[in-house]
Amino acid sequence: MLRRIYLEVFKWLLLSIFFVLLSICGISDIPLSDNEVYAYLEQYGLENINNPKIVSNDYPWGSPFGDKSDQIITAGFHDEQYYNTYGRWHSGIDIIPSNNYYNTDPGYLKSGEVIIYATCNGKAKALLDQAGALYIYILCNDKVHAALYVHNKVNLIPKGEYYTVRSGTPIAIMGESGKAYGEHVHYAIKNVKTGQFYNPQLYIF
Ligand SMILES: [Zn+2]
Repeated sequence: MLRRIYLEVFKWLLLSIFFVLLSICGISDIPLSDNEVYAYLEQYGLENINNPKIVSNDYPWGSPFGDKSDQIITAGFHDEQYYNTYGRWHSGIDIIPSNNYYNTDPGYLKSGEVIIYATCNGKAKALLDQAGALYIYILCNDKVHAALYVHNKVNLIPKGEYYTVRSGTPIAIMGESGKAYGEHVHYAIKNVKTGQFYNPQLYIF
């Protein structure tokens, strides 16, 4: 009898290990193929959506949600409270959509999902960090700035090579992947030559 219980427990353990491994292996596949991304865009009706508030620009301009009125900042750049909680300086800003976004954003109204948009013209790449966060990296066309959009639920950029985007192109759906304390976008702007991070609020109007 006891031996049977042991066997059951052993079987259960093996199964859990198998599923944990499966989910870990699965994560590395999360950046989507071209076809999967196009299927998503179609499913959400986003193929022809472009955020008109984000002015076409070769360096970051505007908010990943549109403009200043579309976002609420939950943690600022080099936020002291963030430093006291996590013991490191916050390299970007954390934002969530405002009521204005929910009431007016063309992507949200079409799909019911919080859509994140490119804030510069450039080349985008879909990536995954070590903590499991899905993020988009855009090398802006000025070749000086890069913009990062982290903790996404879905990246809407095909995996692999850099993909050309224009300001206002849908690039991801907001989520809480990786080390996140709830759904939000960690938005960061970096100088690709020096590695220095800038305060994104200076680029949002
Ligand atoms: Zn953050």
